Amino acid sequence: MQVNLLETPIEYLKGVGPKKAEVFKKEFQIFTFYDLLHYYPYRHVDKSQVHTIRSLEAEGAFMQFKGQVISYDILGERHAKRLVALFTDGTGTIELVWFNSLKWVEDLLAEKREFIVFGKPTLFNRRWNMTHPEMLDPDKHSNSGVSMAFQPLYNSSEKAKKMGLDSRSISKLMITLLNQIQDVILERLSNDIIQKYKLLSLREALVNVHYPASQELLASALLRLKFDELFFVQLRLLTQKLIHTQRNNGHLFSLVGDTFNTYYKNYLPFGLTNAQKRVIKEIRADMGSGKQMNRLLQGDVGSGKTITALLLMLIAKDNGYQSCLMAPTEILANQHFESVGKLLKDMPVKVGFLTGSTKAAKRKVLLEELQNGEIDILIGTHALLENNVVFNNLGLVVIDEQHRFGVEQRAKMWKKSNVAPHILVMTATPIPRTLAMTLYGDLDVSIIDELPKGRKPIVTRHLYEKNRLGMFGFLQKEIAAGRQVFVVYPLIKESEKMDLFDLMAGYDLMADCFPIPQYQIGMVHGKMKAEEKDFVMNRFVKGEIQILLSTTVIEVGIDVPNASVMVIENAERFGLSQLHQLRGRVGRGAEQSYCLLMTKHELSTESKQRLKAMTDTNDGFEIANIDLRLRGPGDLQGTRQSGELDFKLADLAKDEKLVVFTRNLAKEILEEDPDLQLPKNQTMGKYLREIMKKQHFFGNIS
Ligand code: ADP
Ligand code: MG
Repeated sequence: MQVNLLETPIEYLKGVGPKKAEVFKKEFQIFTFYDLLHYYPYRHVDKSQVHTIRSLEAEGAFMQFKGQVISYDILGERHAKRLVALFTDGTGTIELVWFNSLKWVEDLLAEKREFIVFGKPTLFNRRWNMTHPEMLDPDKHSNSGVSMAFQPLYNSSEKAKKMGLDSRSISKLMITLLNQIQDVILERLSNDIIQKYKLLSLREALVNVHYPASQELLASALLRLKFDELFFVQLRLLTQKLIHTQRNNGHLFSLVGDTFNTYYKNYLPFGLTNAQKRVIKEIRADMGSGKQMNRLLQGDVGSGKTITALLLMLIAKDNGYQSCLMAPTEILANQHFESVGKLLKDMPVKVGFLTGSTKAAKRKVLLEELQNGEIDILIGTHALLENNVVFNNLGLVVIDEQHRFGVEQRAKMWKKSNVAPHILVMTATPIPRTLAMTLYGDLDVSIIDELPKGRKPIVTRHLYEKNRLGMFGFLQKEIAAGRQVFVVYPLIKESEKMDLFDLMAGYDLMADCFPIPQYQIGMVHGKMKAEEKDFVMNRFVKGEIQILLSTTVIEVGIDVPNASVMVIENAERFGLSQLHQLRGRVGRGAEQSYCLLMTKHELSTESKQRLKAMTDTNDGFEIANIDLRLRGPGDLQGTRQSGELDFKLADLAKDEKLVVFTRNLAKEILEEDPDLQLPKNQTMGKYLREIMKKQHFFGNIS
């Protein structure tokens, strides 16, 4: 009964009706009382203070005066017709002006003269006036259940305003709603938590977020509501994780055998970093626990995630299992296939390769070998997810560049084996801690926070067009010393209007300044055929080309240790994490490497901040944090559609402390009471089950 009231369709709210209900639905996605209740104001205007007209100094702020209308007049004709009233509070006078609803105003003034007027005073002809002020009755300065001290301001749209739903009318409807429902708002946190952390009750918070009685109550209301948003996401993620580990036994990788040991002793081309060793240990422990692993591996570009994953796949083989490595693009999958092939060339390990463009005949053989267990490691794109890709005994799934794979894909991989395989997702775009906790809160996290030895930090410079000749001179020197150069452009001839220094023009200029036969220049872009691209890329890898011009196709692409310079043209057009990814293409060899960011002269503040972040730090985690601050989580690469980040009030960049706090609290509670059955936790359990029922969870798929 009580819950139902909140689920009442919005059109049944007094003052709404079917027409406005349509607008609510279309413009604000507000369908029910509940939705309107959670449509929070973006700001409040302080009406708790009454100002004096004499003390008026600057324009621009909303304020209110208490006094009376001395006289009024209707001036002008037709379009210029207006009602002007002279208002005084005893300290000075101000003109109140209306351009429409004149009749209504006249009636109002005929009835009484005492008012509190509220609006934005402006100076016109050296006199203060206020257009279309709100006229409040000084004797009725509260509206039944809610305080009128602060006026909430709500986002509206042009369409909604035309239909009579501007901020002011929304705020009036909110009063109606609050008066009607505030007694049925049920608490969802335990009393324990509310008291221990001195939180407002949910009812108080929801009333005060709209109509706060004081600044302090507004702050407390916001805190309480943010708390709920973050806390219940954590409670849900951790519960899913719990359900999951309880339910899913995993393949037991009990031993490290010949394959791993032989490779490690005889063929590993370098010593592992301590971070790589630690991560392998963490993951080994997971895979040897008998429970199914779900782990996120974070590591900056070039930190050596591939070899780490490969070693784990060898352990899978030692235990009699197949594994697969899935990459987001064909180029990246191909590079993995080639580098793994090279790394394992002297080992009796069979590696297969499958993408959307694998030819039918080849595919048939491959799928057979996969099913009968001949293939140990399958590398490919999301083509691996297709139903006809059947493994003999899949034990470990590695997903590279996690941000492009969603939860559903992970779930699909689980089903490729009777017992869900271990899953390791790797991301090269480090995710800020708060984001990882929220987005991947159901995963365990391992971090490679160390680059292989001997890597020199990449020197990054921000250059302008006037520096171009100097830059070319620098490239000549590097090339003379035997190095190679990447030059990256944002896009190719897609929009002439944007006046980009695009790839083709860049090529012409480069060809002039770096003439053959002394220099060889290659070019790759998204519109080339795969074979053409590969041909050019391979020449670059072999060192036959010194300068490779490209669009961002190389972003997640090739590994060329001899390349020491990354030039990024129109760098202001790239996102921060993309810039960092591109930079990661160099600095893989022993030589000092450089990243040169070319931009035009005038830049937006945000572009400047991005470029500054790049020249200030090489640390991917720091970059990720800055990116989160600049753009907000919704815009971070690949996270756009994630419902997990759909917070109304909480801000993962600003509310880090609260994210960590609520996560720890949720953990603590679930450790004591995993099913939330204790009397004190029952309200939370009930609410949690409600939200879990509403959404589709992969935790319940297998
Ligand atoms: P990412 O983490 O970006 O995927 P890669 O796995 O591609 O990085 O590794 C980057 C480069 O570093 C590769 O050429 C790889 O062979 C090399 N590498 C990885 N681990 C080490 C190490 N411990 N010592 C030296 N080089 C390493
Ligand atoms: Mg990689």
